[in-house]
Amino acid sequence: GRPWEREHVRTTCGYCGTGCQFDLAVAPGQQGKRQVVEVVPTAEAPVNGRSLCVKGRFGTGFIHHRDRLRQPLIKKDGQWVAASWSEAIALIADRWQAIKADYGSDAFGVLASARATNEDNYVIHRLARSVFGTNNIDHCARLCHASSVTGLVASLGSGAMTNPIADLAVTDFFLVIGSNTTESHPVLALAMQKALKRGAQAAVIDPRRIELAGQAQWHLQLRPGTDLALLNAMAQVIIAEGKVNADFVAKRTENYEAVAEAVKDCTPEWAEAITGVPAAIIREVALAYATAPAGAIYYTMGVTQKTTGTHNVMAIANLALLTGQIGRPGTGVNPLRGQNNVQGACDMGALPNVYPGYQPVTDEAVRRKMAQAWHVPPESLSLQTGLTLGEMLDAVDAGTIKTLLIMGENPVVSDPDSDHVVQTLQKADFVVAIDLFMNETTELAHVVLPACSFAEKTGTFTNTERRVQMVRQAIEPIGEARPDWQIITELAAAMGQPFGYTDVAQIMKEIAEVTPSYGGISHERLAVTPQGLCWPCPAPDHPGTPRLHEQAFTRGLGRFHGVSYLPPAEQPDDDYPLILSTGRRLFHYHTGTMTRRDPGLAALYSEEHLEMHPDDAQALGIGDGDWVQVTSRRGSMELALRITDAIVPGTVFTSFHFAEALVNRLTNPARDTLAQIPELKVCAVAVQKI
Ligand code: SF4
Repeated sequence: GRPWEREHVRTTCGYCGTGCQFDLAVAPGQQGKRQVVEVVPTAEAPVNGRSLCVKGRFGTGFIHHRDRLRQPLIKKDGQWVAASWSEAIALIADRWQAIKADYGSDAFGVLASARATNEDNYVIHRLARSVFGTNNIDHCARLCHASSVTGLVASLGSGAMTNPIADLAVTDFFLVIGSNTTESHPVLALAMQKALKRGAQAAVIDPRRIELAGQAQWHLQLRPGTDLALLNAMAQVIIAEGKVNADFVAKRTENYEAVAEAVKDCTPEWAEAITGVPAAIIREVALAYATAPAGAIYYTMGVTQKTTGTHNVMAIANLALLTGQIGRPGTGVNPLRGQNNVQGACDMGALPNVYPGYQPVTDEAVRRKMAQAWHVPPESLSLQTGLTLGEMLDAVDAGTIKTLLIMGENPVVSDPDSDHVVQTLQKADFVVAIDLFMNETTELAHVVLPACSFAEKTGTFTNTERRVQMVRQAIEPIGEARPDWQIITELAAAMGQPFGYTDVAQIMKEIAEVTPSYGGISHERLAVTPQGLCWPCPAPDHPGTPRLHEQAFTRGLGRFHGVSYLPPAEQPDDDYPLILSTGRRLFHYHTGTMTRRDPGLAALYSEEHLEMHPDDAQALGIGDGDWVQVTSRRGSMELALRITDAIVPGTVFTSFHFAEALVNRLTNPARDTLAQIPELKVCAVAVQKI
């Protein structure tokens, strides 16, 4: 389109949880249909200004890609056959009704989506609870921050990031643990880099010398899976060196004795033997954090994806409570959410234990409120906590869950032990998938429904700092694709329960009515509030809450937890002598279904490799660029080797973006018993040249 034919539509990035905004430039394309032609940065974007990363700025090629699903597909005799919407919906409703009649409500399992809007997730959660009558609903937050929610709710009362991203402008010291922020949250990392330039100090705890580690004052290159030993040693130093904020501990916390007792023998020397990080550095960093006027902690999956994930998170909260580094500008406990709307999907109740706003499904009063909003008898809503993602797959395996509805998730590539996930999905009687593309998971479904991308629909995303922002429709849906909320509304009607939503703003109105923390949020208000609104925002005249726990913790007093180091579930041995850890790359997003269909991003990073330390490569007789086979107790994959001294010896690393080098065939499904999060970050492997 020529520039004068263009229109700009302000919207929110669909990739990571930073929540950057930009304008989608659209112009008439083929057959006069509007097409996305460019992403245009805008200085008015509240989180990012004119900054965007390569994915947000250039990664829109997937929107009009020829692979987009354009029609519903039904599998007949093993072949995909195009169908009309009415045929597909009638077939699904028929099968679901039969399954409900034969096996009951808990034969259903629902995977909601951290990629979809709040409105989409609210409607699918309503379908699960009100139409199916089950609380078996979960999504990939189970794989990222389930342990943050469990740990921080117990410690602080809320599982969310405590401080806004903008607080990096006033922090004096920040600790980054288990987060490759530069590649995973690139624009947020710019704020960290600005803080360093301004003179703030930082310490990075990571087994790899990631870019940020080169810029920070300290890099603590620990062995994977030993975080809890390091965190407990920091607490021990703070206590032993008299750096506890006694006033804060006395007035705002409880259970101090538990942490004092748990860490009393966790000296830096003890931690050095476990982590490989010199004791003197542990001591220095602990004191730098404790004595900074404003000190903050940022973390992601390196902390959470562990069998001790919840305890790791509690140990981080302990540090903030010991030092009083929370509830003030530039401080806080800040778990960075990975996906664009993983915070929102959790807020919307796409979890097995809570309705929207973390209201327990076991609470009779909450059940009555929801039943009234949905015009159903209270008894039709289950009071029993549902199954988590991994437990649902176990239940399919065991034959108790018969049918799965999967919206915008690709568990075959994203979940641990992929081969087992495939075998499990093949056992389900009936799988319905809603997605933009065929992928490794939709291939195993029985019916696939085409969904709209973020460019084709209106709604809201909630970013990592709890900021609710508008997503605005810029183009007409591709083919016959529909927004998820509309598809689910039609499925519910076909199941005999019309939800009555005719436009998406109505859904947010209902969310506000039943969710106290979203009570003051509406599309009308967001239209005139370009900076968005951070929850809790309980009333239409409430300004929102960028910073949590300023006067009191959400749970009242902050609670210390005494937690002890345990090694990862799988240790290296003679057969599998190396540790495998996984993560992300700047140019790709998760299972690659979108970014790998963008020609620019695909060209910038076209194949995956395995990172290995030169000492290990030499011992194994493998050279840079050689193809290797990597094997764990569960499976194997092949890819090229890259030798780098940026990784701690004894550890190898790769991403999970490439299905042809499917690292999750190898990863360990062992779970944290408190949060049911799998230990994706540590498993034992053998590597050999092929
Ligand atoms: Fe999008 Fe995240 Fe990049 Fe911002 S940092 S442009 S939200 S992918």
